[in-house]
Amino acid sequence: MSGLRDFYEVLGVDRSANDDEIKKAYRKLARQYHPDANPDDAEALERFKEISVAYEALSDPEKRRRYDMFGPEGVAPGAGAGAGSGDAFGFGLNDLFDAFFGGRDPFGGERHASGTRRGADAETILDLTLEEVVFGGTKQFNVTMPIACDECDGSGCAPGTHADACSNCGGSGEVRSVRRSVLGQLVTSGPCARCEGTGQVIPSPCTTCRGDGRVRSDRRLEVEIPPGIDTGQRLRLSGRGPAGPRGGPAGDLYVTVRIAEHAGLERDGDDLHTVQTIAMTQAALGTTVSVPTLDGDQELDVPAGTQPGRVFTLHGMGVPSLRSGRRGNFYVHVAVDVPTKLTVEEAALLAQFAAMRGEEVHEHRDGLFSRIRHAFQ
Ligand code: ZN
Repeated sequence: MSGLRDFYEVLGVDRSANDDEIKKAYRKLARQYHPDANPDDAEALERFKEISVAYEALSDPEKRRRYDMFGPEGVAPGAGAGAGSGDAFGFGLNDLFDAFFGGRDPFGGERHASGTRRGADAETILDLTLEEVVFGGTKQFNVTMPIACDECDGSGCAPGTHADACSNCGGSGEVRSVRRSVLGQLVTSGPCARCEGTGQVIPSPCTTCRGDGRVRSDRRLEVEIPPGIDTGQRLRLSGRGPAGPRGGPAGDLYVTVRIAEHAGLERDGDDLHTVQTIAMTQAALGTTVSVPTLDGDQELDVPAGTQPGRVFTLHGMGVPSLRSGRRGNFYVHVAVDVPTKLTVEEAALLAQFAAMRGEEVHEHRDGLFSRIRHAFQ
């Protein structure tokens, strides 16, 4: 068993498919692969189970949302062993299969022998842009980690061979030892050292994975980005972490988000801030500027007499709240550009302007002022 296929892929629908499209796809496939229509066809039965699991998840809005966010928690056979399978995801898988298969365990025979160990959890960093955070969507990424060995299907046994019960522990994976102490006899038990607690030994290990059942490999995964997520926050992809040894269920993959700096925009919680520079004449006389936002360029009316530092608010153009989905604001801080280099004519006009308002200004160096004075006499 090499893990679950993506539910959308199983049903052959887009990630954006609506309920009707999902239902339609499911009905068509279910008719095609239904056990009644395919007696004694193990492959069709497998497909039918797969389709049913996928539909069970995607037909329920809440489960679909959680699947999009967290992946197939508890769905993989043997996943979450000891942790209560499906606890976080809440799939009613057993109910579903009771209905379809009269209570038979559909994963019967594939369930891992007691003692298989779950893979470790792993962590990776996912770089996102501010645009991706605001608008959400699916993000694909690569991660290198131990995955089930293809050659032996994770069993660790050379093709055509199988594992034997460990003779040291009799296949239980546990050895008991009796110790005498002042309190009397103490019976302790611990994992068998020979089989590492698995209860099984592999007489002819797979040459590809040397009997471990796993190989380190690059894997492409995808995650649904919850709009509004911030740097340092983590997403958990349940059961999509490193595979366990010898067919053990996979651990979880934690994805820590890191958001790239945006040229020109600063984020403060759910709000965005930008600085818009205008000329001093525009500040005095008023103008309309085009402000680049994440929702495209926005026309902003700057009234006459606008002071430097004035803040204009574009409502609802910030970052969505992770909880409510409501977007924060986009604040435009006005900066006024004072020209640093003036031509003779420009300086003359400004000097004239200053004179009209009775504002004292410096005389210009380079004898410029005398020329200006000359021009107005
Ligand atoms: Zn192998």
